[in-house]
Formats: sequence, C-alpha cells, structure tokens
Amino acid sequence: RSPQEVAENYLQRIEQLEPHIHAFIRLNPQALEEARVVEQRLARGENLPLAGVPLAIKDNICTQGLETTCGSKMLAAFVPPYSATVVERLRQAGAIVMAKANMDEFAMGSSTEYSAFGPTRNPWDLERVPGGTSGGSAAAVAADMVPVALGTDTGGSVRQPAALCGVYGFKPTYGRISRYGVVATASSLDQVGTLARSVKDLALLSDVVSGYDPKDSTSLEAMPQFGKAIEAPVQGMTIGIVKEALAVGNSPGVLEALERFRTVMERQGVRFVEVSIPTLEYALAAYYIVNTAEISSNLARYDGTLYGLRVSGLDSADTMMESREHGFGPEVQRRVLMGTFVLSSGYYDAYYGKALRARAKLKADLDDAFTQANLLLTPTSPFPAFRFGEKTSDPLSMYLADIDTVAVNLAGAPAMSIPAGFEGNLPVGVQLIGKPLYDEQIFTVAHAFE
Ligand code: GLN
Repeated sequence: RSPQEVAENYLQRIEQLEPHIHAFIRLNPQALEEARVVEQRLARGENLPLAGVPLAIKDNICTQGLETTCGSKMLAAFVPPYSATVVERLRQAGAIVMAKANMDEFAMGSSTEYSAFGPTRNPWDLERVPGGTSGGSAAAVAADMVPVALGTDTGGSVRQPAALCGVYGFKPTYGRISRYGVVATASSLDQVGTLARSVKDLALLSDVVSGYDPKDSTSLEAMPQFGKAIEAPVQGMTIGIVKEALAVGNSPGVLEALERFRTVMERQGVRFVEVSIPTLEYALAAYYIVNTAEISSNLARYDGTLYGLRVSGLDSADTMMESREHGFGPEVQRRVLMGTFVLSSGYYDAYYGKALRARAKLKADLDDAFTQANLLLTPTSPFPAFRFGEKTSDPLSMYLADIDTVAVNLAGAPAMSIPAGFEGNLPVGVQLIGKPLYDEQIFTVAHAFE
C-alpha cells in the first residue's frame, strides 16, 4: 500500500479510538500531505528506511509549525520555529508525524494525569492510567493508532508507560539520541526513547533517531546498530537478577513475569546469577533531589516575557509571578519549590551534595554488577496499571511508581521494558538494563525472548 493509503487507514483508526483513549494533544493537519510527498520521494527512487511509517511524537519534542505544549498551559500556544533533531531524522527517513502525544505536564508524573489537557486512558482498561509521563505515546502504540512513537525518559517515562500498556519501551545510553529541540526537564537525566509493539520495529526506529548530533554537546559518537543486534545469538550471555529490586514488594503478576522471562531465556542458553546493588535503596531519594534541582533551574525560563503564557501584573516581577502561577500546574509548582529548597545555600551539603555522592556510588555499584553479568533484570514497575485518582492525592505514592526505573537515568545507562506477562487482563513488563554503550545487547535478548 502507498504511504497515503497507510496514513488514511491510520487516521480512520484514530478517529474511532481517540475519543475513548485521548492519547493525543493534537493531530498533524499536514499528515496526508506529508504522505503524498513521501510517495513522490519514493517514486524518485529515494531510499527511505521508514517510508510512510506513521508515528506519534511526545509533545515536549519540538515540531516546526506544529504546537508543542509539554502538556502545560504555559506552552499551550507555543509553535516552535524549528524541529528537534530526532524529528528531522524521522522526516528524512520518510516517516509521517501523525500526532503530538499527551503527557504529564513538563514530563513530571507517572500516570499522565498531570496533563493540563486531561488524562489518557489505558487501552487495556479504560478505568486505569496508561502510566507516564509518555502515557499518550504508549497508549497510542498499544491501541495501534500508530505502530511506533517517541517519548522521553527522565526517570522512567518511556519504560513505565510501556510496561503498563504492554508495549516495548527503550531508553538509550545518555547521549545516544540527540536532545536538541527536546524541552528540558532535568538535563542530566533526560533522554529521548522509542516505543513499539515489536523489537524489530523498535530497532528500526531507534536506528533512525540515534547517532551523533553536533547540536547537542552531550551527544556520543557511537554508531547505532540495533537492527543488526536483533540477529545476534544470546547463547553464553549472563543476566544478573538484582536482589534489591525483588525485595521491595512487587505484585504477584510482576514476580511471575520475571520467572517466565528467566525460564524462557535459560532454555536458550542464557545464564542467570544473583547480583547486588547496595545503593539502589537510595536511588529514588537521590533522583528526586537531582531531578527537582535541575527542574527549578530549567523552568526559570518561563517568566512571562520571552515566550509562553503571559499574565500581566503590576510590574515585571508581578508579571513573572502571575504567569508562573497560572501557567504551571500543582506538580510543576511542587517540584520548582523543592528544587529551589534543595539548592538553597544553607542546605546544599545536606541535600544536593549528598544526592550527587549517592549518584556516584550508585554508578560504581552498577559497574561492579556488570563485572558479573552482561545485563541486569528487574521489574519495570512494582505493579500493573492503577486506577485514576489512586495516587494523585499523595505525591509520595506517585513517586514510588518510579522505584525500578530512576537508577538507570542516574547512571546514564540504557534499559528496555519488555512485555512479559499479565496480571488479570493488565499487561506486565520486565526491565533489562545494559552497561552504558552496550544498548545493542538489550535488543539481542529482547528479540530472543519475543
Ligand atoms: N515519574 C518520574 C518523574 O516524575 C519520571 C518522569 C520522566 O521520566 N519524565 O520524575
């Protein structure tokens, strides 16, 4: 079928399902036109690895001429004058941006309930959350409104919604996908990630968006070889089961999924060992200090003057206050306050300094674990999809949803959530963590398990 027919089919499906799921903040009005252009490029004999592939882009990734809201009232009317490098690469490869995906405001949250444009529903159970913050991307892929999507992952925001929606979600080594044109949440933790329903699709998409970008000073030179990696053998590999991740109260379906993963992979000649990461218990605390500190600094740019929402006050300071009060929702305000607090001079050593030391120790512990195993195995989330409203009244209980994912961001490591079972009718994922720059090994094992 031609790119245009494919785009039309997907648009029909979106029309049917989107009113029930609300995965998107905005459809791309140019999608069909862009599909026509791809058709012409194909006719000219261009080699397009993603010719006509429809996809959704999380709404904190800049798309030239198409609103990029970050799920916030602050940027509700923001139309970027340029596209992120990842979007440029996708267009080059012939992909069609169908829609901008819903998300928790400025990528803070774990359920997509903090979107200023209303929550997304989990396609497996409409009474439950899809996870977050890339909940729109994950739900759209799970419901086949698009075959693949981009999200961002600062502390689990690609992997956790992937797990709760029963799809694959990959966060690469820090630096392997360009952050140019991605709205910053916490810059030392943020990474773009990919979502798909098969490892092969995930590899194809990841190959296109990864690679060195001179516009991102943290970009790495490593060549992406995900497509190649899925053909490699798994025999002789060792996977370390992280003891501490099993000790924190996982629901029965999650433990079963881990067991199943182990059984299937052992049959293929993978060896399993137990490893220990003693500092894992401090990861969540360290993450929420580093994360809020960087947020308080990054979000200072929304001051009601340069761009974004402007609510005029009595003078410029008042305008700044009014704009931020009306533009930011409660979770964003909470994080800016916490971040400002942990960075205040009197408390620097007690909080931020200590969190940085914990981060360094955690990295060292992970390095140790990788002397015993090629990859590490943990749950992606201690529980499957939860109900709306279950965690919004207690911020700490929402933060606990990230217990299995944040260490990976603190260490800059690659990881993937792999659908591995069900609890009742709800999908459950397991997480494979790689050594930094060994992302491809994760794809090898994920494909063998598939
Ligand atoms: N849930 C985590 C947080 O709220 C992770 C968010 C993310 O990865 N963007 O910080």
